[in-house]
Amino acid sequence: MTHRDPAGLDREDPLGPLRERFVGAGTDLVYLDGNSLGRPLAATAARMAAFVEQDWGTRLIRGWDEGWFDLPLTLGDELGRVVLGAGPGQTAVGDSTTVLLYKMLRALVAEARDRDPARVEIVVDTDNFPTDRYVVEGVAAETGAVVRWLEVPTDGGIEVEALTGVLGPTTAVVLASHVAYRSGHLLDLAALTAAAHAAGATVLADLCHSAGAVEVRLDAADVDVAVGCTYKYLNGGPGSPAYVYVARRLQERLRQPITGWMGHADPFAMGPGHTPATGMRRFLSGTPAVLAMQPLAATVALLDEVGVAAVREKSVGLTGYAVELADDLLAPLGVELATPRDPARRGGHVTLRHPAMREVVAALWRRDVLPDYRDPDGLRVGLAPLSTSYAEVRAGLVAVRDELVRVGQAGEA
Ligand SMILES: *Cc1c(COP(=O)(O)O)cnc(C)c1O
Repeated sequence: MTHRDPAGLDREDPLGPLRERFVGAGTDLVYLDGNSLGRPLAATAARMAAFVEQDWGTRLIRGWDEGWFDLPLTLGDELGRVVLGAGPGQTAVGDSTTVLLYKMLRALVAEARDRDPARVEIVVDTDNFPTDRYVVEGVAAETGAVVRWLEVPTDGGIEVEALTGVLGPTTAVVLASHVAYRSGHLLDLAALTAAAHAAGATVLADLCHSAGAVEVRLDAADVDVAVGCTYKYLNGGPGSPAYVYVARRLQERLRQPITGWMGHADPFAMGPGHTPATGMRRFLSGTPAVLAMQPLAATVALLDEVGVAAVREKSVGLTGYAVELADDLLAPLGVELATPRDPARRGGHVTLRHPAMREVVAALWRRDVLPDYRDPDGLRVGLAPLSTSYAEVRAGLVAVRDELVRVGQAGEA
């Protein structure tokens, strides 16, 4: 077996030149963890500096009336249009994914109960991201809802046929990650939503590992509510705010539990009692993280220029190349692919399993090759389409092979 030459793939890559727009792309460091923390755009540094000098520095308190107050909604609309396939007035930026999962799960559990008191079950898969599972358990304990676990393989994810088996007249909400954080499995969001709706349940989709790498079409898929983070494929920076999408048809029916002043119909009236605002504003709670939203605005502008379809095409190219390299260089050493082989069922990362991977990843980090490790024995190769070159993928997987050989020899010695 052989693998293709990365130089040719990089030459033919229409997105190749974009790599230069990221900080550090000119160095030899191999970054294969853009699905955990994206690289910064060089434009972000300039944007942050200008924001401090001009917006914050000269407009001061007036900035709130000049755009900051509405930024969660205006930036949300841009993110919705460019990345999420969402029409205006359905996306807001703010909080963390964990906090939004809590707020929206509480709202959806209450909405289901309002329709039918028998609808008490929250369906979630056993391999969903830890914070998602923990929030489900917390909301269940708080509200009396019941957790209905869906078993999924760790090298796959939720298949709609399996989901259908646990849906019924007692289902309230289905919480599902669009792309599974461990395996990279990409689920069919439209089919999942159709199945949930047919059973009278709503869908809360977690887009953390999909938005910015795969095409998301929330309106077309008829999704009810979605949340996601912005520091992975959206290059928002460590701890940047998350976002929430709520289908317009549901907004007035949902009550979220953190009823702060920023979600009030008239925050500056400062009156007694909480009257929720109409539209997406009702899902806000406190003062928006305006400073921390600046990097996201730079990425959304870049994605608007490029188009998410081209990003997905590059992503499929990169993951396909990683699989090709793994088959060629790593399978002979006993490495197994723990990600779907079918590109239509795969998100933006590839997971490779071998008992030595924990040790291998630690050694790679010491030599500036940065994938990450996920239990039980998986090395995740995260392939951010805007900033990753084919040469970088090859250099990374050659380094994995070299470290596996070294670990094997040390074991024999
Ligand atoms: C990264 C990730 C999160 C992170 O949640 P935070 O509140 O930002 O820590 C949640 N869910 C999934 C599926 C993720 O991949």
